[in-house]
Amino acid sequence: MNTPYYQYDIALLRKTLDTIREETAGYDYKVHYAIKANSDEVIVKTVAENGFGADCVSIGEVRHAIKCGFAASDIAYAGVGKTDDEISEAIDLQIGCFNVESLEELHIISEIATSKNAVANVALRLNPDIDAHTHHYITTGLAENKFGISLHLLDEALMLSKTLPGLKMRGLHFHIGSQILTMEPYKLLCERIKPILDKAKNGYGLKIDYVNVGGGLGIDYENPLVNPISDFKGFFNTFKENLVLPQGSQLHFELGRAIVAQCGSLITKVIYVKRGLEKQIVIVDAGMNNLIRPALYQAYHKIENLTSKSSDRAVYDVVGPICESADTFAENLTLPVTSRGDILAIRSAGAYGQSMSSHYNMRNDAPAQYVGL
Ligand SMILES: *Cc1c(COP(=O)(O)O)cnc(C)c1O
Repeated sequence: MNTPYYQYDIALLRKTLDTIREETAGYDYKVHYAIKANSDEVIVKTVAENGFGADCVSIGEVRHAIKCGFAASDIAYAGVGKTDDEISEAIDLQIGCFNVESLEELHIISEIATSKNAVANVALRLNPDIDAHTHHYITTGLAENKFGISLHLLDEALMLSKTLPGLKMRGLHFHIGSQILTMEPYKLLCERIKPILDKAKNGYGLKIDYVNVGGGLGIDYENPLVNPISDFKGFFNTFKENLVLPQGSQLHFELGRAIVAQCGSLITKVIYVKRGLEKQIVIVDAGMNNLIRPALYQAYHKIENLTSKSSDRAVYDVVGPICESADTFAENLTLPVTSRGDILAIRSAGAYGQSMSSHYNMRNDAPAQYVGL
């Protein structure tokens, strides 16, 4: 197969999904897959076949989820800027729920639903304002943030949910960030949820059918082959131990990265090994258009040389061919002596890799190849 391409290990994906099912068995938990992490059809269909719900952030993702086998009623639709057309179509498709991110949006959804003689299921996406100073990896749960409804507006939001004619308030939604590797932020989230539930129930007489605690569980980028499956036991136990929901309420989750990241590698070929002043530069045929995470977030991805049998090692920068200095996959990386034509694997690329790719420099997509189907 021509490089670069994404190699997906579907057997590992299935094993990951099985692990999630085992860890949630016996509880009224429902896990949604955040399609934005990877919308590859084989992957999305595999997740759908395993009885998960879907978390979408555009009408394109909603359509794709339905096409790949998710029931419309198992789709939650989030996003700060849903357009009128998107809202209208999602109501027509009878999706499970809108995760609503502002009071303004509550009004618009109600108006559009009312004009169709429909009632839209909504959950309020609330901003739990979890302290970023102690948890620097949390970027989406702060009070003044484009995501979600600030707790200062909670009363108003609950009142609107109760009174606007085109809405049925179903649940509360939170999503505090991504690549979270300690359980402290999730414990904090559980504490924040209790008084909010009380207020919805006792203050406003709202019945909460479900609480959605979002996603964000991290993966091991350093040792992907040693730890291919995230700590789902620790994750779900945190909620089992810290969050008691009222009788009849479900707990929902929306995981993206932890489901798909480790099943994908970006496979690329070395075009040149260029001699620099102090180090050598490995130029590969994949670029930041195929995998933007290192350029965008200075993210680390483990890189392995699958070809070189050399026991000698050297230090390299590994870069792509794109006309941007940011198009760099690794700096000062020690690899077995690497030569033109060697094949490298960039690991943990199954999440936010292919789905964030672009055509910058008029470059092609890296196609998908599957193993373990
Ligand atoms: C992106 C996103 C997720 C998934 O995040 P991960 O870090 O990939 O688990 C879940 N919920 C919402 C609302 C999101 O935007």
